[in-house]
Amino acid sequence: MSQAFPLDRILEAAIFAARKHQGHVRKDDLGSPYITHPLQVARVLWDIGGVRDPQTLIAAILHDTIEDTRTTPAEVREAFGEQVLEVVLEVSDDKSLEKMTRKRLQVEHAPQLSKSARLIKLGDKLVNCRDILENPPSDWTMTRRKNYIQWGADVIAQIRGTNAPLESAFDRMLAEAEIQLSFSIQAFETVENRPWGPSNKK
Ligand code: ZN
Repeated sequence: MSQAFPLDRILEAAIFAARKHQGHVRKDDLGSPYITHPLQVARVLWDIGGVRDPQTLIAAILHDTIEDTRTTPAEVREAFGEQVLEVVLEVSDDKSLEKMTRKRLQVEHAPQLSKSARLIKLGDKLVNCRDILENPPSDWTMTRRKNYIQWGADVIAQIRGTNAPLESAFDRMLAEAEIQLSFSIQAFETVENRPWGPSNKK
């Protein structure tokens, strides 16, 4: 590996995110510490996607800090720079909006994302959908799990052509979900039939 690879910056991001997500747990039944999730996203980018761009990996580790914790954009800018901040903001939902609006906006905005943000989106959806398939929260119904995975498929359909290995891994997860949850993923062309279809503006 190149000597210039800034492992120190990556670890700094991991520590920053771990502190920010302190006390938060994932919705699975294991009660996993939240930080496991952004670290898994960075890991799939590295392992499966072959992503070696430090800014993208750092933004992946920080991707939920602004959305889910009290972290401010200024803090991220100061610690990791403007470029990382911009990518984190690209993948942050506006939590003041209604849930279904946020889902719709993710589908709508996906094609406008930068390359780094697309990679993080791919990693995030892969890890989240896998979690919902393998370790769902106990209070989630079958329908809710299917809808979640269908929504993930709709977002990813908008950014195909970003990273072939990550997209193949996502497709394998979809195929597995279809078998295990016995349903069929609907083609993106039918997205308007779903509650998060871009025309379903509320
Ligand atoms: Zn995430």
